[in-house]
Amino acid sequence: MVENLPVAVIGAGPVGLAAAAHLLERGLDPLIFEAGATAGAAIEQWRHIRLFSPWRFNLDAAAVRLLEPTGWQSPRLTALPYGAELIDNYLAPLAAIPAIASRLRTGARVLGVTRRGLDKTQGRNRDTTPFVVRVQDTAGEVRDYAVSAVIDASGTWSRPNPLGMSGLPAIGEDSASDRISSSLPDVSGRDRHSFAGRRVLVVGAGHSAANTLINLAELAKEEPGTRILWAVRGASAEKTYGGGDADGLPARGQLGSRLRRLVEAGRIHLHTGFGISSLAESEGGLTVTASDGRTLAADVVVPCTGFRPDLEMLRELRLDLDPAVEAPTELGPLIDPEFHSCGTVPPHGARVLAHPEKDFYIVGMKSYGRAPTFLLATGYEQVRSVAAALAGDRAAADTVHLELPETGVCSSDAGTSCDVPAVASAEDDSSSCCSVPEPVLIGIPTGLAHGRSGA
Ligand SMILES: Cc1cc2nc3c(=O)[nH]c(=O)nc-3n(C[C@H](O)[C@H](O)[C@H](O)COP(=O)(O)OP(=O)(O)OC[C@H]3O[C@@H](n4cnc5c(N)ncnc54)[C@H](O)[C@@H]3O)c2cc1C
Repeated sequence: MVENLPVAVIGAGPVGLAAAAHLLERGLDPLIFEAGATAGAAIEQWRHIRLFSPWRFNLDAAAVRLLEPTGWQSPRLTALPYGAELIDNYLAPLAAIPAIASRLRTGARVLGVTRRGLDKTQGRNRDTTPFVVRVQDTAGEVRDYAVSAVIDASGTWSRPNPLGMSGLPAIGEDSASDRISSSLPDVSGRDRHSFAGRRVLVVGAGHSAANTLINLAELAKEEPGTRILWAVRGASAEKTYGGGDADGLPARGQLGSRLRRLVEAGRIHLHTGFGISSLAESEGGLTVTASDGRTLAADVVVPCTGFRPDLEMLRELRLDLDPAVEAPTELGPLIDPEFHSCGTVPPHGARVLAHPEKDFYIVGMKSYGRAPTFLLATGYEQVRSVAAALAGDRAAADTVHLELPETGVCSSDAGTSCDVPAVASAEDDSSSCCSVPEPVLIGIPTGLAHGRSGA
């Protein structure tokens, strides 16, 4: 690594801040660029949503080591935080610690990353040439920073997938943008006025759709004119209903079961096999047309269609990405939504996340590309390993394991599918499970079999 220059961390979400904490422990100097006004700016958009994983999976060990001497009180590790609590009780105090605060630039959007004086085609001395990170502040001023390495933890929140069924926007989608909400609006709180008494179409089959539909059902109890429509591309909503009792995270299982009851009671109108081909303004609303010609009339559409990584800002770097998932090539097949439906993944770190571009890593939510199953615990292990690799501690970088505060839970599934509930093994007790790296998978079973290919 080029010496005497900071390591750029793009994004001050939970994984970016954890990366900074691990770099500090390694004696490296992080410089964190955050596009939003505060740390956790993406989670700020879904602060009204409750996480399905308890605190013990949501705290990074190095971050906790930084926080503890400040008198910070750890939340109850078994409690399920709201997004707001993740920010207020963890990310904000972490970002305020002087070692982090002095290195955090907020309102700083990274526009591009390259090697100083070299475009992508130029290979000479590439590995020993500093990176340049181009950053724009909120006043529009643009500045280049020279850094020794780059950790991209910028997430995927700013790039929702389009409503159109083929990966492109549906015809008319762009001009209908004022009737399309953000991905997780606070329908019964902050954004209530846009949904009360209106025909709301929720599109998508993931946890975001489930959360929004359940909150809309609450709103409809108080605002009886509210009509809830739900369109999914698949032949059924079984995947969204999830594994129920077999889900390793009970809160996630309960969400699906509740949604099923609301649909069965007729409070939510489900339309399956509804791949959207076009949107058109019609009198007083939108007409949403499926590829088979069916139409739905709505006042507002909530896109819960997942996210994709912003690769444009990495255009001048030499990346090695899975052609389908847009995750690092070795990671892609382990999380491909075609075959996997849960966050369970073999432990992985710097080696799996490496690119031909030396000392550059994509971590966190963005490392999963288009796969929707990322879990924070996975990201924290990624950045522990990446910081070790950048510090030259190859042994620590390669010894990947589950690092959870307290006892943790290792989902041990030595079988062929990551998606079945864990079977407790002889070693699988709280004191020994995390010290057995090989057969232990990081993640929590959903109780669902396989990914889309199983549908
Ligand atoms: C509704 C919801 C619920 C979830 N629940 C759970 C859960 O229960 N358990 C779990 O383990 N995981 C959960 N996840 C998945 C995942 O852990 C979260 O998305 C988490 O926020 C990912 O952290 P991150 O740091 O990788 O990215 P983010 O939290 O998205 O942070 C990225 C940061 O980068 C900034 N940024 C973006 N672009 C730029 C740029 N160009 N320049 C500078 N800064 C930039 C953003 O403003 C943001 O602050 C959930 C996700 C969602 C959406």
